[in-house]
Amino acid sequence: MKIHEYQAKEIFKQYGINVPNSILCEKLEDIEKCVQSIGTPCVIKAQVYSGARGKSGGVKIAQNKENALKYASEILSMVLVSPQAGMKKVNKILIENAVDIQKELYMSFTFDRTNEAVTFIISEQGGMDIEETAVKNPEKIFKQVIYDTFYPMETIEKLGLSSDISEKTAKAAEALYKLVIEKDALLAEINPLVITKQNEIMALDAKLNFDDNALFRHEDILLMKDEKEENPLELQAQKLGLNYIKLDGTIGCMVNGAGLAMATMDIIKLAGKEAANFLDVGGGASSEKIENAFKLLISDKNLEAVFINIFGGILRCDFLAEGVKNAIANLKIECPVIVRMEGTNKEAGADILNNSGLKFTVVKDLNEAIEVIRKL
Ligand code: GDP
Ligand code: MN
Repeated sequence: MKIHEYQAKEIFKQYGINVPNSILCEKLEDIEKCVQSIGTPCVIKAQVYSGARGKSGGVKIAQNKENALKYASEILSMVLVSPQAGMKKVNKILIENAVDIQKELYMSFTFDRTNEAVTFIISEQGGMDIEETAVKNPEKIFKQVIYDTFYPMETIEKLGLSSDISEKTAKAAEALYKLVIEKDALLAEINPLVITKQNEIMALDAKLNFDDNALFRHEDILLMKDEKEENPLELQAQKLGLNYIKLDGTIGCMVNGAGLAMATMDIIKLAGKEAANFLDVGGGASSEKIENAFKLLISDKNLEAVFINIFGGILRCDFLAEGVKNAIANLKIECPVIVRMEGTNKEAGADILNNSGLKFTVVKDLNEAIEVIRKL
């Protein structure tokens, strides 16, 4: 789960990480009051689930009140377009005390699946071009895999900062690591983490992603969820208890089992098409669940056809066929539906579909599925 920068900064404060003074503003009519309370110079920042806001016009520094009001109303009404997140309507801005920057560092913690450990990453070339640094000067980015107790100093020393600044940076790193562990974050990133002209360390940006599987023990984090920022189809799927991820292709797929769903997406690609989604309906899907899954698939406006690939183990094929038949009849689905079933009662399942009076293409195996999808 993602949260906004302003929310992440609230959590930073709880952990003793310095952040600038700021105020959140959600309405055009509140802008003047908010700017007044922060004063100038100030920074106006779009609050959307996207990085690279600076390069997309979503972060602006205002030296005086006039500019602050102008930027604030512009950013609060804008649709931010970034290479990372596509188009995002801005609904909230953060108005922040501008900080005099001496140097921009980069700091993050990510989960390294290969090493099965949290990894600490730091660079003295932080800021908006960190991606470029990673490509052109990878030697400027230092990584430390944390297996046991975390001693940030051994890595921070490599940056060649003064000992006073190194110590303050290490304190921020320890605080952020504590947050990562206690709150089950999968990613914590501060870019830039700045050294101010007054030689303080301060987080000017804040990004936190949390492990969805651990949210049951973090009610405070769950409350921060901003449904407006989530993909509407994915949000609906979460509410229905379906494992669904929206993709860019045109072939909707409904599969039981995550591995089979991945393989199915490969099959679609082999047929020269792209999957419209990932959808795992799970082992014991009820017919209600199947109908809900179908509703979700057909609300995708890019849809060209639906491919159902089911291995009937616990879920019997005849039971599935009933669910699919009802869903298609109830929802008046008109696009082609290709069904491959294997396993328990597959003949009975095929009979139900073939005798339903509805248009199905029941294929005998994946090779035939590829041929049918290719010809769409
Ligand atoms: P991002 O582009 O979405 O990562 O947004 P950031 O919050 O990182 O802001 C982009 C850039 O704006 C930063 O890298 C800073 O260079 C600059 N910036 C943000 N806040 C301040 C500030 O208080 N003072 C100054 N001088 N620059 C700032
Ligand atoms: Mn940033």
